[in-house]
Amino acid sequence: MVTPEALLQVRNLKKYYPIRGGVFSRKVGAVKAVDGVSFDLKKGETLGIVGESGCGKSTTGRSILRLEEPTEGSVQFEGTELTSLSGEAMRRMRRELQMVFQDPFASLNPRKTAGEAIAEPLEVHGLGNRRERKEKVKELLSVVGLDSYHAARYPHQFSGGQRQRIGIARALAVNPKLIVADEPVSALDVSIQSQVLNLMEDLQEKFDLTYLFIAHDLSVVRHISDRVGVMYLGRMVELADRNTLYERPIHPYTQALLSAVPVPDPEAKRERIILTGDVPSPSNPPKGCAFHTRCPHVMDICREMRPDFRDHGDGHFAACHLMDA
Ligand code: SF4
Repeated sequence: MVTPEALLQVRNLKKYYPIRGGVFSRKVGAVKAVDGVSFDLKKGETLGIVGESGCGKSTTGRSILRLEEPTEGSVQFEGTELTSLSGEAMRRMRRELQMVFQDPFASLNPRKTAGEAIAEPLEVHGLGNRRERKEKVKELLSVVGLDSYHAARYPHQFSGGQRQRIGIARALAVNPKLIVADEPVSALDVSIQSQVLNLMEDLQEKFDLTYLFIAHDLSVVRHISDRVGVMYLGRMVELADRNTLYERPIHPYTQALLSAVPVPDPEAKRERIILTGDVPSPSNPPKGCAFHTRCPHVMDICREMRPDFRDHGDGHFAACHLMDA
């Protein structure tokens, strides 16, 4: 899976949260939120990660940036192992790696003006003097489609779409190379969603950005991604370039997810695959293939042996025994 031009290499990333119980609060188990995720992200690329709520996609993004400390695994950014950096070195590295959050309102301090919020990362990293920071804020506001007078306004004075533009300007302030966007448009109206997605695409081109774009909405991910990875119960189950994944999914879970997405062509019929049963608990994932309790194609081997996540040709990765049958 190693690509020579990879900006980010994630290998066997795990994030387990201990479950404690008893009078001594001993560790009695673990919630396996992320359970061995591997992928590469090329420079200038957008990799979308999709999956149902609780599949571990957001925790994957947060663990890469060490907003959550990974339990195990390797995260290399331009050849530097992020998981072993000291606190101070990681803080410096964060200039290169920024995050755009789902809820623009929650991620902005209500007592800070938009200008102060955008200038904050510049102050944290000691970039520029007061006058230069003010100029930079003006420039960033214009870059994200806002006016310089917006700098003096507070978050509650903006619409949801405008607040997300501020969140993006804030992320861009320190000239990052990689942006992890965690459900950046899911709190917005559909009409505003496409404006923000188009803005993100324009900015990617302009600033040579690389995106890890996390969302539950398959149409949104299709709009913006070059490649798409599908997660289920803490693991990546399929990864391919956008068109291959949406037109020729090979994993039964991806097939089921996509069968629920409306297709624009009324002639094109797509049979809806209804999955039965609930998503199992990540504290007690099923043995073998974690999807076997809901898979319409389950075989005996699926209950016993976990399928390898491997390349089935042209970078189309999937973890399913059907491909070996
Ligand atoms: Fe279904 Fe088996 Fe493939 Fe898992 S490995 S997705 S249970 S066919």
